Amino acid sequence: MTIALPRKDLFDLPEGIIYLDGNSLGPLPRAVMAHVSQVVTEQWGGQLIRGWNQSRWMQQPGRVGDVVARLLGAPSGSVMMGDTLSIKVFQALAASLALRPERRVILSDNGNFPTDLYMAQGLIDTLGSDHELRVVEPEAVEAAIDESVAVVMLTQVDYRSGRMHDMANITRLTHQAGAVSLWDLAHSAGAVPLDLTATACEFAVGCTYKYLNGGPGSPAFIYVRPDMIEHTRPALAGWMGHAAPFAFDRSYQPAMSIERMRVGTQPVIQTSALEAAMGVWEGVDMQDIRQASIELSERFIREVEARCPDLTLVSPRKASERGSQVSFACEHGYAVMQALIDAGVIGDFRAPNIMRFGFTPLYLDEEDVIKAASILQDILDHERWNAPQYQVVNAVT
Ligand SMILES: *Cc1c(COP(=O)(O)O)cnc(C)c1O
Repeated sequence: MTIALPRKDLFDLPEGIIYLDGNSLGPLPRAVMAHVSQVVTEQWGGQLIRGWNQSRWMQQPGRVGDVVARLLGAPSGSVMMGDTLSIKVFQALAASLALRPERRVILSDNGNFPTDLYMAQGLIDTLGSDHELRVVEPEAVEAAIDESVAVVMLTQVDYRSGRMHDMANITRLTHQAGAVSLWDLAHSAGAVPLDLTATACEFAVGCTYKYLNGGPGSPAFIYVRPDMIEHTRPALAGWMGHAAPFAFDRSYQPAMSIERMRVGTQPVIQTSALEAAMGVWEGVDMQDIRQASIELSERFIREVEARCPDLTLVSPRKASERGSQVSFACEHGYAVMQALIDAGVIGDFRAPNIMRFGFTPLYLDEEDVIKAASILQDILDHERWNAPQYQVVNAVT
């Protein structure tokens, strides 16, 4: 039985499209259109600079952070919105290293999203120190956590395969070794149930344009465990994170709350889009989302394996080890995905040969999943991908 979450009509999905790419860019929630238009015309246009007080733009990053916090299993006052995820990775990583000045190793895995590793490399260069980024196989992370490690920085759900780390266990091992735990939840927030309070990691970061449907360029989030906030060096010491931004003090004093993780002025319009988008989660239990996501994913795997024998599942077969996406390896994956998109089924492709499909129960049902698999079968059976227009590689895949 598939749980029907009657939320599809909260989204403005184009007619005839089956959208299996909500793990990359969530679709447009209808409420966003009216809200953003009102923010632009009434708040920005009408209130001008008075909007900072009249529409409480100043409180917006923390206010939206509190809404996002519920989906992370985090308390109010522990999540701040702003900047991009790459920036938040840098900030959390720098703060982590400052907490373990005597240790030198940043431990991560080679399934991590490249920007997370790039930001770590850049931070090490900036520090001009002898820190080391140690990158191991995902399966080797647990054994690699030792007392040389300052921080274990991992993305819970692998962006290519959907493989999911055991967050609770790795965090426990991290703390046993005296290291700091930093999780990237880019493919977890809004996809799988999270309980940051129980996990007890010091830091978590993530983006909001994937499963949270905040729109392209919507702000990232950063979580700091409440007891650590006052001990966290924000690293990017911007005026919005100052204890009193409008005192225009010449020296920096971090706020004594999660506000210290702010840097500069937030993108007010885009954060407003996210604020309205978060409305679709009202009353939604992440356990229901998880169950429905597993049912949709399993159904898709069964259908594709029965219909498309040339495709190989690269996601873990066990649902408990998988996030909310399913990936198949396919020799002509790029061209097949282009043909599939042309036929109204939108997924995406990751080099060298991975076709990714995201499952988002807020706006997908069993019928969509079966139809997507049958269209995929048709493309493969008739080699429809083998047309010249599907061989041209776009800048964004
Ligand atoms: C999507 C994603 C990013 C993207 O970072 P931006 O700064 O938002 O472009 C970073 N890390 C991971 C793990 C991701 O999945």
